[in-house]
Amino acid sequence: MAVRQEKVNLLGLTRQGLEGFFVSIGEKPFRASQVLKWIHQFGVADFEAMTNISKVLRSRLQELAEIRAPQILMQQHSRDGTRKWLLKVDGGNSVEMVFIPEKDRGTLCVSSQVGCALDCTFCSTARQGFNRNLSAAEIIGQLWMASQALGRDPRGERIISNVVLMGMGEPLLNFDNVVAAMDLMMDDLAWGLSKRRVTISTAGVVPALKRLKEVSDASLAVSLHAPDDALRDQLVPLNRKYPIAVLLDACREYIAGESKRVVTFEYVMLKGINDSAEQARKLARLLDSVPSKVNLIPFNPFSESRYRRPPQEVIDRFASILQDKGIVTITRRTRGGDIDAACGQLVGQVQDRTRRSCSTMIIKEAC
Ligand code: SAH
Repeated sequence: MAVRQEKVNLLGLTRQGLEGFFVSIGEKPFRASQVLKWIHQFGVADFEAMTNISKVLRSRLQELAEIRAPQILMQQHSRDGTRKWLLKVDGGNSVEMVFIPEKDRGTLCVSSQVGCALDCTFCSTARQGFNRNLSAAEIIGQLWMASQALGRDPRGERIISNVVLMGMGEPLLNFDNVVAAMDLMMDDLAWGLSKRRVTISTAGVVPALKRLKEVSDASLAVSLHAPDDALRDQLVPLNRKYPIAVLLDACREYIAGESKRVVTFEYVMLKGINDSAEQARKLARLLDSVPSKVNLIPFNPFSESRYRRPPQEVIDRFASILQDKGIVTITRRTRGGDIDAACGQLVGQVQDRTRRSCSTMIIKEAC
């Protein structure tokens, strides 16, 4: 009896991967360009609609392949226009993605893992534990789904202009799938976003950051959150493995040779913990040698969180100390707070939380 083969999901294949697929079924590699456009530019999931492909090939594709994105389980609209979707992914899990509309852009924040293994003390995703990496199809599938849900603006332009990998998970611990998804975001035949509009955010997985430079030129954001190792060891336990000096070296390396590039440093503002004037000055000294920009993120509370958000004047004082030292500093406006869509509030549904106890092992293996 013939064994039924599982269908290949073409959604997560890069141009190169798709060329490989077509060659493997005895077709010409140029088919990849056609199919890439159908999937990512026209949002088509049905091979029958791909009219510049022969009928014979279309029915072969139907047999061998599929274009399958995560399904929407729930969606929420915030009063400020922010939207959040809960997406079902394989294995009974679900992840969240968020769309943040602004005057001059529309940013989609996507997840890279089901849960997170890093255990940052101020992040609610960390509470969920870690289940698994998302596949490339599940990552790019978030952009694909959101783009369909949002449609086009009155001029026929796409509504999503920027993508940030700042949802659930640590993207650099899911290296290959994240790089493949970012390739698709930046490939002219797929989403065609410029490198300034695709940002990967990391808590500082240094060896992976070094590898990233070899294969991608996406923009880099680093979750710093503290101006010294003693405090960062507490807030971001990964710091014990890759302390600040080592991390900043890797950041400098990442943007080396490109005079206009900067690293964005994210700094969550925690009342009485990392928000003093002295800590602002320390941070400014630390960043003196890295072309940088700082994003201050007022802490977003979640149930049973032990931290508080500092008063606005404390955040403003912190920002102005950095600005006085010549560092471009932006305080991230909290968006979607009424639907728990703000930074650090994404949770989804993570099966088998017992794996949380393996999180140290997962990190060890991955770095
Ligand atoms: N793991 C990656 C991607 C997460 S990005 C990283 O650490 O960069 C999400 C950003 O929101 C990170 O800077 C994260 O530290 C920050 N964050 C997490 N919890 C938060 C909270 N409760 N309030 C504000 N920011 C938070």
